Amino acid sequence: MKIEGYTCSQCGQEYKESLLQRCQNCQGVLEPLYSEKKISRAIFSSQGENMWAFRDVLPIRLDDHIVTLGEGITPLILSSRLGEKIGIERLWLKLETVNPTGTFKDRGLSVAMSYAVEHGAKGVIGASSGNALHAQAAYAASAGVPSVALVPENVPQTRLCQPIVTGTKIFRIRGNYSKSHELASILSRKVGWYNTSTTYENPIVPEGYKTVSYEISQQLKTSPDWVVIPVGAGPLLAACARGFTELYENGLVSKIPAMLGIQPNGCAPIARAFAQQKSDVTAWEEPIETNARGIADPLRGYSQDGTYTLKWVHYTAGAMVAVSDKAIAQAGKLLAEVSGVYAEPSAAASVAGVTEALRLGLIDPSSLVVCLITGSGFKENTTFGSPSVPTEIFESEKNVLDWLVNQSRT
Ligand SMILES: [Zn+2]
Repeated sequence: MKIEGYTCSQCGQEYKESLLQRCQNCQGVLEPLYSEKKISRAIFSSQGENMWAFRDVLPIRLDDHIVTLGEGITPLILSSRLGEKIGIERLWLKLETVNPTGTFKDRGLSVAMSYAVEHGAKGVIGASSGNALHAQAAYAASAGVPSVALVPENVPQTRLCQPIVTGTKIFRIRGNYSKSHELASILSRKVGWYNTSTTYENPIVPEGYKTVSYEISQQLKTSPDWVVIPVGAGPLLAACARGFTELYENGLVSKIPAMLGIQPNGCAPIARAFAQQKSDVTAWEEPIETNARGIADPLRGYSQDGTYTLKWVHYTAGAMVAVSDKAIAQAGKLLAEVSGVYAEPSAAASVAGVTEALRLGLIDPSSLVVCLITGSGFKENTTFGSPSVPTEIFESEKNVLDWLVNQSRT
């Protein structure tokens, strides 16, 4: 596949290949337009060490421009114990936690930074509440591209350490994520720096996410019934749906899996529209109340992005569900306890979501389900309601021995 330009998903306007962000007519989401759409089965025999094994379906022309830190080809593991607890016979976990900066965002930033290099961008500017910030900072440093990040005021200080060390200039912006997002867009247009915000503001970022669907198809050797994805604005979900569609149209998978998008109750504009059977998403004007910050996107000023995601949900005969923070905490604890995977709340949302979808009768217990575990828990060290970290210091082995002996008796 060779990228030629973009098509607006809303009005159909076509554009030549460039560092363009959105449709200039209607502000709609742009989709990359490829000249050659044929994909051969050989794509599954590639033995690469990272997502660039699928470079044939990525929009970079020259290998010299690829900026990689080893993202992708993440493990897909069958978690029978978790499946048994939840009530799903075949539950697989796609561990995006093992990416270079701990989340799936590395895929998007790897391809966006490569694109920035290929097109000679002066610098990159992005808005992020955390994970995309780490990916942007890492890949910009690796590429030697100047980098500026706008972060909402409530982002914890500890999240800012890595970008500072890697040389990304940080500006804390008053307000929620939508405000940082808006400013990044305005500044990008004013100074010509490439906007790498991982919403639909950048049409190249989702191309990296698309590789998740190629990997699942390669690793599973069949199509899952459901792919469960935590959703903010939804580019990961749309990209996976598009990836599976590309594979299906080329006869390389037997079906397109249904996408199950998960949002937190405290900020769920797309799940709300789905529940109300509306085709247009409206922005979340209520207060944002959730610990799952990575997927708390109110879409204020760009609600058409939610509508675009919802279209893909319907296209795959999927669904959207909203879950409470309590359910996310229970899911995060269960995921850690029975599968050993320590996820951030935004990622644990997928496990909470599949549980809720089962309860609602949306998913059949015999389904083959892949949950994307989108981000590691090590950045925030959430305890998910477990007892607090012990503070008492012991002098000898005696107390430990007492505990062990006691355990052996029970
Ligand atoms: Zn348009």
